[in-house]
Amino acid sequence: FNVPEAKNEPVKSYAPGSPERAEVKKMLEELRSQEIELPMVIGGKDVYTDRKVRMAPPHDLKHTLGHYNQGDSSHVEMAIDAALEAREEWANMSWQHRASIFLKAADLISGPYRARINAATMLGQSKNVYQAEIEAACELSDFLRFGVKAMTDIYKMQPSSVRGVWNYNEFRPLEGFIFALTPFNFTAIAGNLPAAPAMMGNVVVWKPSKTAVYSAGVVMEVFREAGVPDGVINLVYASGPVVADVVLTHSDFAGIHFTGSTEVFQGIWKTIGDNIYKYKTYPRIVGETGGKDYIFADNTVKTPELVTAMIRGAYEYQGQKCSAASRVYIPKSIWPDVKKKLGEDLKTVKMGPSEDFTNFVNAVIDEASFDKLKGYIDRARDDNDAEVLFGGKCDKSEGYFIEPTVIQAKKPDYVTMREELFGPVLTIYVYEDDKMDETLDILDKTSMYGLTGAIFSQNRYNIEKMTKRLTNTAGNFYINDKPTGAIVGQQPFGGARGSGTNDKAGTLFNLLRWTSIRSIKESL
Ligand code: GLU
Repeated sequence: FNVPEAKNEPVKSYAPGSPERAEVKKMLEELRSQEIELPMVIGGKDVYTDRKVRMAPPHDLKHTLGHYNQGDSSHVEMAIDAALEAREEWANMSWQHRASIFLKAADLISGPYRARINAATMLGQSKNVYQAEIEAACELSDFLRFGVKAMTDIYKMQPSSVRGVWNYNEFRPLEGFIFALTPFNFTAIAGNLPAAPAMMGNVVVWKPSKTAVYSAGVVMEVFREAGVPDGVINLVYASGPVVADVVLTHSDFAGIHFTGSTEVFQGIWKTIGDNIYKYKTYPRIVGETGGKDYIFADNTVKTPELVTAMIRGAYEYQGQKCSAASRVYIPKSIWPDVKKKLGEDLKTVKMGPSEDFTNFVNAVIDEASFDKLKGYIDRARDDNDAEVLFGGKCDKSEGYFIEPTVIQAKKPDYVTMREELFGPVLTIYVYEDDKMDETLDILDKTSMYGLTGAIFSQNRYNIEKMTKRLTNTAGNFYINDKPTGAIVGQQPFGGARGSGTNDKAGTLFNLLRWTSIRSIKESL
């Protein structure tokens, strides 16, 4: 059981003059100069269709990155058949061989594929180089390496035996196939959702977000090069409802590994309930959904630290992280100071295409997201209960650009204090200093989510009070830090309430969901 010690992949700086900067720039040019055609990958074969869908960078809509081949329900059926055909051999392969495949995938991502996976994420999802590096290159490698380590920790968990009786656990994969439905916002999550069940010996049908197919193609290439056998992970591009319709009504459906919207997850859960009599086994339902993540400050905070956390927490990757700070509670006595510093610092935040390394904020993912965000900003402008303090410009002439925006809400339950916006819009509620307890209660009750949250204070009594009072509001809770940027192996990620099943991605808790134990007793 001695696998290499899992260590976090070191994040490279991409500073001017660094070799990694030159390499990724060259890769961006190379990818820009070609139009690729991405096939689906089913049973190890490249599958082309006559429906070609154009891919463009969200920050440069006129440029064509290439096309992907859109499938229909027959391709989903093919993918399920291919997975089931590969199942037995893969399930019987020893864990050492599965481990070697996923360790190799991690080495490919952090080595020869690093520039490509980062550049694909920068172009296809409009991430700046630092945001791409921390997740596409580093977090995905971490998920795979820590995953392999957790897999061996699981296999070590054995019952006791007594003289005359020999007991042991056999960790079998689930009986059927797993459906991985993956989001646009993290290439690391897109790769980990099919990889984790596969690591535990399962076969997978993988449908990536239609807005992140460009980088999903690179991840699939890595899996193939690392030696994932044909049919073990099948990549299909088809519309969500079409895929769900075939997958969720199939008798061999054994589980879903999901990251995406609350609404979609709840719909899937309901469909699974409606089809429960069809399945051979109770499907495992593992999902991470939305968030309405908060920062709560008391009047002992250091303004510069708080403001940096607000800007980084709310605007890195345009606020398109489930963990992004989107509502902030600030006491009245420090608000003038915080507001001043926030205004000053926001002036230094540059927005533009992700390929220009000086831009901190890039484009949001697509037109639907742009329109939704603009709608909330326009509403706040017209509303008596809110005021747009900073930013607010929206421009989709070249790409989907939404300026980092700060709204001040006059009521703590104003719509942008409650609903997930998934974009660079932060709402602030200023509370009376002597109403901290009531405001903590309000925070707890304002939103249906429970993903991440951060408190800021220099007072240990307040820190303890807030930590206890906010117990159920966040699966990832930060003290004097922004609520984003969880690192695999350090801050196991996931939340409860409306935010998901809290199975903690990249850990043993998650991998345990992808195995069904046969407990064997032999009388000697
Ligand atoms: N793990 C990421 C973070 O801590 C967020 C993942 C997500 O957006 O789903 O920022």
